[in-house]
Amino acid sequence: MLCDSHCHLADERVRSDLAGVLERAAAAEVGPIIAVGAIGTIETDRATVAIAEHHDGVFAAIGVHPHDAAACDKSRLNELRALARSRKVAAIGESGLDFHYMRSPIEAQEIAFRRHLELAAALDLPIVIHCRDAEARLVEIVREIEMPPAGGVIHCFTGDAEAARSFLTLGFHISFSGIVTFRNAATLRAVVPMVPDDRLMVETDAPYLAPEPYRGKRNEPAYLRRTLEAVAALRGNEPAALSEIVTNNAIRLFRLTTR
Ligand SMILES: [Zn+2]
Ligand SMILES: [Zn+2]
Repeated sequence: MLCDSHCHLADERVRSDLAGVLERAAAAEVGPIIAVGAIGTIETDRATVAIAEHHDGVFAAIGVHPHDAAACDKSRLNELRALARSRKVAAIGESGLDFHYMRSPIEAQEIAFRRHLELAAALDLPIVIHCRDAEARLVEIVREIEMPPAGGVIHCFTGDAEAARSFLTLGFHISFSGIVTFRNAATLRAVVPMVPDDRLMVETDAPYLAPEPYRGKRNEPAYLRRTLEAVAALRGNEPAALSEIVTNNAIRLFRLTTR
């Protein structure tokens, strides 16, 4: 099997075709699946947890996306805490900093990110981090607050070699998406062999970021095989061996055998 460490099953484009999406994932031997809520309102997190509870092999991450950081107030955090009582909730996130799109003011993003680090530590869950064009600042904040004891992953890593080294030193896992298959991603491809075997994951981030040759289409977990093959080629691994490595890493980080 091959774990999709990050996708958005509650997104309308996926949810409207959920049975088909999960069937094609199973046929491609993609699973377990970490379904991330976080985008939009608390309803997205609720729907994501409900999907996880209804499907074996699907687990949830809940939080407030940096795009929506201003909505990360006390009541939202309390709602997340209540949702996290589900055994199928395996992580907090995605949270972090996005200075590329800058859909929320920096200050709101930083406050929300600190609260997510604290929440992950309090609930003893790993954190799923979203970071775009904000690597240095994100590292500073994690150093101040401390890494959640259960660890975490930088999802859809898009930084350079220096950023990768900083994240690895802090103890993070690094997850690569379909971007590694894009023609203009040479800098990112150079980072792929740097990540030690025991810190590596892959993801679709569906419905976003479909790998080549599906680029521009709605992404889904079944397409993860393309990304795995690209990552394996860059590292000089056999895809089957690498599939086992990244899946075991996800099982360990998200403690899936206990859920
Ligand atoms: Zn993200
Ligand atoms: Zn995402």
